[in-house]
Amino acid sequence: MSTDGNPSLSRRRFLEQGSVAALGAALANRTAGASDGATKAGMRYRRFGRTNLTISEVGLGCATGLKSRTLGPDRFNRYREELPAILHKLLELGGNFVATGLGYHDTEEILGNAMRGRRQEVIIFTAPDPPRDDVPTIMERCELSLKHFHTDHIDCYFSHGRWSEAFYEAALKLREQGKIRFIGLSGHVPAEHQARVDADQVDFVFQPYNYMALAKWTERFDRNDVEGLFASCKQKDVGVLCMKPMTGHFVPNWAEDKANPLVARLLKELQDFGKSNLYQAMLMWVLRNPNVCAAAVGMSAVDEVTENCAAVNGQLTRRHERLLDLYAETATDDYCRLCETCVPHCPVGIRVPDLLRYRMYYKNYGHCEDARELYAALPPERQVPACTQCGACQEACPNRLAIVAKLQEAHALLA
Ligand code: SF4
Ligand code: SF4
Repeated sequence: MSTDGNPSLSRRRFLEQGSVAALGAALANRTAGASDGATKAGMRYRRFGRTNLTISEVGLGCATGLKSRTLGPDRFNRYREELPAILHKLLELGGNFVATGLGYHDTEEILGNAMRGRRQEVIIFTAPDPPRDDVPTIMERCELSLKHFHTDHIDCYFSHGRWSEAFYEAALKLREQGKIRFIGLSGHVPAEHQARVDADQVDFVFQPYNYMALAKWTERFDRNDVEGLFASCKQKDVGVLCMKPMTGHFVPNWAEDKANPLVARLLKELQDFGKSNLYQAMLMWVLRNPNVCAAAVGMSAVDEVTENCAAVNGQLTRRHERLLDLYAETATDDYCRLCETCVPHCPVGIRVPDLLRYRMYYKNYGHCEDARELYAALPPERQVPACTQCGACQEACPNRLAIVAKLQEAHALLA
């Protein structure tokens, strides 16, 4: 990856511009605040906006920790046992942050135990789970997170999924008490982040961003919202952390669908070029944006950590770009970009992006029980049988997804 115009610097460039002593000092102050430029084990770092934290370009997201409470010990324990090794590999390769949430099963406890004695090496992003409209409860939830992580402070505390003024009130108090350092928001809709950035309430945003946001092969999708958000974050010195950089992991799902010529063409290219190139290309594409600070990547195996961390020094070649194009062309008619454009168009109040996201958890992530739990938690009037199949959501969708059919499929999988 070229460093030209990129806020991060390669190890070679850093050593050319600085000194070994400066490198050591910067690394020692990684979580305490430093500037761009430090490298360790080939990892690259960027300044995380006004937090002044120096964050590794790749860190651990914990969507893979969204395992069902009904999975039972056998299936969940496999992931539980792997997670400490995943974290340790990430630290070994210079990664320095984890992003999770109190609602992501017991990932806080697992990570907290795994980072005992290494707390100073890790920037912790976490969030309270619902309910989020009650200040005392949010403050209690933060205490629980502190206990799970065996720490006296959370670095980056965020309102998860949507903003609430109660969260903000609690977060300000927690910050005064020194229990959190920085305040942020996670969510799928750029406009919601933009409002908080404009109101100067957040130090960072945690927003989905991936190659599928760039629909150059269809011109049907307007990505200006997210690019505009990132530019305004840059201007206001707000940190940008990206989620969902890998777009939804469609490939395993397609392996048996060779009758589809697009799938066959993509699988052939993956066979010739190597599947790891696809995921690395997706990360390289995200990190190519100078307004992005870092990507949180869900990883469920140690090998994936090595593969993903290597991407920070990769070169996005024409062949990688062609691979991304093939992937995007194959996935575009099935990929909900979670833009929520369709939501106000539904006369019965069904939230299509939520249902399509649960379908993605089931089909692409393989989190079948989670997806079923989330669907079951919806009131009947928000589930698919309440849909009149009027088609208004499809008409509104800038990606022209065949929503009605996908909702029927979602119900068949999730009910
Ligand atoms: S087709 Fe169903 S989900 Fe879509 S707008 Fe109509 S009622 Fe709502
Ligand atoms: S279904 Fe279409 S309009 Fe609705 S959230 Fe997904 S991409 Fe956006």
